[in-house]
Amino acid sequence: MEQVKCLIIGGGPAGYTAAIYASRANLNPVLYEGMLPGGQLTQTTEVENFPGYPQGTQGFDMMEDIKKQALRFNADIRNGVATKVDFSKRPFTVEIDGSTTIEAQAVIIATGATAKYLGLADETKYAGRGVSACATCDGFFYRKKRVAVVGGGDTACEEAVYLAGLAEKVYLIVRKPFLRASKVMQDRVFATPNIEVLFEHNTIGLAGENGVEKAILVRRQGEADESKVEIDIDGFFLAIGHHPNSDVFKQYIDTDEVGYIKTNGISTHTNVAGVFAAGDVADPNYRQAITAAASGCKAAIDLERFLNQI
Ligand code: NDP
Repeated sequence: MEQVKCLIIGGGPAGYTAAIYASRANLNPVLYEGMLPGGQLTQTTEVENFPGYPQGTQGFDMMEDIKKQALRFNADIRNGVATKVDFSKRPFTVEIDGSTTIEAQAVIIATGATAKYLGLADETKYAGRGVSACATCDGFFYRKKRVAVVGGGDTACEEAVYLAGLAEKVYLIVRKPFLRASKVMQDRVFATPNIEVLFEHNTIGLAGENGVEKAILVRRQGEADESKVEIDIDGFFLAIGHHPNSDVFKQYIDTDEVGYIKTNGISTHTNVAGVFAAGDVADPNYRQAITAAASGCKAAIDLERFLNQI
């Protein structure tokens, strides 16, 4: 069985940054990138708020840069998903892709978070045929078409503005009478003429012969003036938040009720000595690339100190 000092699970800003620090500390880290190498930022467009890029950069390019930086110090970055772990004793064992098993002195969990869906049967029915949780990945297919984005947060507003640059018309479906997004994103939405915000609307279904052709909505659901609304669309984009990717670790690692991994104080220590958590999987509050990268740095330092003390 392969034995490593430092195993990093997850290839987003947290994982790659942990790999930079761990490799520079001579820990020869092995990193498995998971289902979405590069993480969520590969699915976004412009990143304007990461320090060091005065003109902004593309999320995908930024992740490639951080990965290259880790490779420069000989981090061993591999494809593969952690499918099972045993954290009951050290060295820990981690199974990759249901086959290979690796033994690790210490582990950093940086598996991020995954987009949520509404839970409608139609989302599954039309998966890949008009339903998407990634405007950047799929927006291109809707040039000069009509699309809807669900959600009222920063992600929904960002995706609506992005899609408005490609599509003829964008509906933003918001369940409350207001947007939760930051003021700057709200202003961008309201300043974009081909975005129509549908406040107090909930989606109850999708329809269409060959892929999505309509969304069926309820306006002011549960109120006396509740009404049914149908909009003609070709694409339906979800932007309603994320689920932390902690399921595989939950048998051993404490999480909150949503599934975010609990860490000890300002450190990245989990309840299992030698297992650390960084990035969105442990962060219900900030969820930014810069905070994920920072916690990846902290995890690598915490791990190095842990290995020096045992
Ligand atoms: P948020 O949790 O901030 O927003 C989720 C949105 O989806 C809310 O408007 C919520 O409605 C809505 N929603 C949730 N469930 C449903 C449902 N079942 N039906 C309809 N609507 C639903 O998630 P985001 O992904 O937008 O943002 C996550 C974090 O990342 C935030 O902190 C955000 O600020 C940050 N972010 C920052 C960016 C930047 O700085 N450039 C870009 C993107 C994200 P309700 O308001 O009613 O709860």
